[in-house]
Amino acid sequence: MSKQTEAIVQESLDALFDDESFLPELEKEMREQAFTSLTSILSTPNHINKSFLRVPLQNHEVKRIPAFRVQHNNTLGPYKGGIRFHESVNEEEVINLASLMTLKNAIHDVPFGGGKGGVVINPREYKPKELHAICKKYVQYFSDVLGPEKDIPAPDMGTGDREMDWMMGEYKSIRPGEKYRGSFTGKSIENGGSLGRREATGKGVYFTFRYLIYDFIKENNSWLSEQDNVFAKTTLDYYDKPLNIAIQGFGNVGSVAALEAYYCKHCNNKVVAVSDRNVTLYNSEGLDIPSLIEYTSEHKGDLPKDDAELGETNVKAKIMNRDDLLTLDVDVLFLAALEDQIHEDNMEAIKARIIVEGANAPVTSEADQYLSDKGVVIIPDILANAGGVIVSYFEWIQGRETQFYSEEEVFKRLYDKMRETFDRVLPKFFQDPYPLRKNCYILAVTKLSTILYRHGKLY
Ligand code: NAD
Repeated sequence: MSKQTEAIVQESLDALFDDESFLPELEKEMREQAFTSLTSILSTPNHINKSFLRVPLQNHEVKRIPAFRVQHNNTLGPYKGGIRFHESVNEEEVINLASLMTLKNAIHDVPFGGGKGGVVINPREYKPKELHAICKKYVQYFSDVLGPEKDIPAPDMGTGDREMDWMMGEYKSIRPGEKYRGSFTGKSIENGGSLGRREATGKGVYFTFRYLIYDFIKENNSWLSEQDNVFAKTTLDYYDKPLNIAIQGFGNVGSVAALEAYYCKHCNNKVVAVSDRNVTLYNSEGLDIPSLIEYTSEHKGDLPKDDAELGETNVKAKIMNRDDLLTLDVDVLFLAALEDQIHEDNMEAIKARIIVEGANAPVTSEADQYLSDKGVVIIPDILANAGGVIVSYFEWIQGRETQFYSEEEVFKRLYDKMRETFDRVLPKFFQDPYPLRKNCYILAVTKLSTILYRHGKLY
């Protein structure tokens, strides 16, 4: 677990310890002992599975590739979390991402625990046949700890439905006669995937923002105006006003969130900037998002990098350096690329007053503290980017029942589930002095601690 996650989990436990209405039957030494157990349970993963996949390459070389499956906590149900293919994958990162999954599932009341996997490769450097071999080996090496009632992987950076289909195929071969449909989620539709899974995270990310800035205020405007709370003031300042949005990352999450913003009828917002691993595109009048999506779908996911490439589209934009997006004079910043994008070196230059974490952990703890102290509302990853795991949960249910929902039904269920979470979190957030992240952690830790206590695990 990263120091940032560990510190905020501990702060949440400390707040619960002092809250006499939380498990009042736990008194004195028993309370201390129970909270010491909670700290150790939540700050360490249950299992770290690590291996070196032995994979023959097409040039006849045989490579040993480091691979991980971390199972952080299964108090609420089977472990659940993506498998990332990226050259920077490392044990510490996988542990941290697994622990975020535990908290994410807890806050959204999804009956899963937290897990995460990783393989240390740059998938762009491998041929499909080699990636197929890597996926099969991953399942062979970890099959004992995976399964629909044990640990259910999903795609993450560098993996998608193709890899999940391959992995489930291998799982089915290794365990003939056993239930396999719920062993992986994020599969192709033909192979039992859920409609809407691809768009789920990006749609959920935008919905989180829209709910905060529009739906919630519309229902609670006068109550919110009475709150003596810096974050309530920031949010109200932005209600029913034209808003400029910049979106870092134009992949699965960023491009879908951008499209949602582009078509949103409720918010008077426009997407003025988007970026990817190469460039930032900026237009103060708003970017033509559908044309950019069409371009990226034909160019391996990349945005136009120069005027010649931009000329192939009808999009009018200024081309800027990749990281310029972060410090643009915009109202809202969506971070949908990587970890640690706002940090000590650029936090003072950030102008957005609302930040939405589509990626996991894109704001470091120093930057989080600095910006929150200035009244910036940061919608944290565990709240904002849970659309993927929520629809994965629907996929798992559909696989068990072999009954499938329409796309409309999937999105309705997704928004209903997210709305339930926001209605638990937001009223408290606007009354407490804490940033939204701490509020979310307290809610998630409350849920986990209650169930651990009821399971008799704190003695
Ligand atoms: P993706 O690979 O589809 O897209 C990533 C995008 O980020 C690409 O456009 C890439 O060019 C861009 N990028 C890479 N480095 C960049 C940089 N330094 N600056 C700007 N842009 C950069 O990945 P994705 O599925 O969209 O995931 C994005 C993030 O969201 C990841 O951190 C992932 O863990 C997280 N996330 C994804 C899901 C999901 O369901 N896809 C769910 C939860 C969290």
